Amino acid sequence: MTSQALVVGVDLGGTKISTALVDVNGQIIAHDYRETQADKGQAVVIDRMLDAVRQVMEQADIPKAQVRAVGIGAPGPLDIHAGVVIAPPNLPGWRDVPLKELIEERVGIKTFLENDANAAALAEHRFGAGQGCDHVIYVTVSTGVGGGLILDGKLYHGAEGAAGEVGHITILPNGPLCGCGNRGCLEALASGTAIAKRAREVVSRGAPTVIAELADGDPERITAKLVAEAAEQGDFEARKILSEAMNYLGIGIASLVNLFNPQVIVIGGGLSNLGERLLEPVRRGVARHAFAAPARTVQVVLAELGDKSGVLGAAAAALTQIEREISFKIS
Ligand SMILES: [Zn+2]
Repeated sequence: MTSQALVVGVDLGGTKISTALVDVNGQIIAHDYRETQADKGQAVVIDRMLDAVRQVMEQADIPKAQVRAVGIGAPGPLDIHAGVVIAPPNLPGWRDVPLKELIEERVGIKTFLENDANAAALAEHRFGAGQGCDHVIYVTVSTGVGGGLILDGKLYHGAEGAAGEVGHITILPNGPLCGCGNRGCLEALASGTAIAKRAREVVSRGAPTVIAELADGDPERITAKLVAEAAEQGDFEARKILSEAMNYLGIGIASLVNLFNPQVIVIGGGLSNLGERLLEPVRRGVARHAFAAPARTVQVVLAELGDKSGVLGAAAAALTQIEREISFKIS
């Protein structure tokens, strides 16, 4: 049994809740993984979160007093100052839920709420690929595109806590419609959803490609992962779809390099499994579109924490808040 300060991180997603008891070095001491059961409504989901928090403390057999804080990573939009979940699309029926307060009251431990992409940025900064750097931009590329900005060593929230929406940088003003209502956002061009959509278009116009075959002729089964498989087999159309999408990602990231002059861009999310097929076009885009000096400085790398970035991010958010409060008391 350890005597050092511990926190609990809770990563609340639309399909799963991942909860861990974590030490200051990012070591996971106990872990709980369960379905969200979002369809059963908010009260059930919150009970499941509370049960998971108790579960990891029991598993590790540590007194509650040793847990300094609970951090929750939740899908946006959020009011992080008030600790309120506003209306996330993947948690149906949730509207203005004071999640921070509800968890804090029932667990009896100080609780903090952070947006899931920001939490993952904190995790990579503290425990992963951005360790030791004060200027880190995290970009997640999966069904959507999101991000978090670590500027001068601190997570940048902006006036409303809405900063870091990397996915909604406009790349093509007349491009494909984005889920946000705008056209040609980075997310509408480079996300897994965008890649799958583009592949369905290519298949439906009858282009020669193995994509249709891999999907057993069912357009609904076309995913970015399947397009990546086709590309691995040398499929021309699949490679073209991916390289176009990753070129757009490179253009978006080049703007971030010009704006923030980061030391490192950390790319996570499901599409980071593309590895070099993602890194190479992004690095090329940065070299081509960003100013020479910041483009030379920046390292574009893959995230290191994989599917643990959410839960470690929630823990990192809790640790960050505790440290902030301590320094406030001293000053
Ligand atoms: Zn958008």
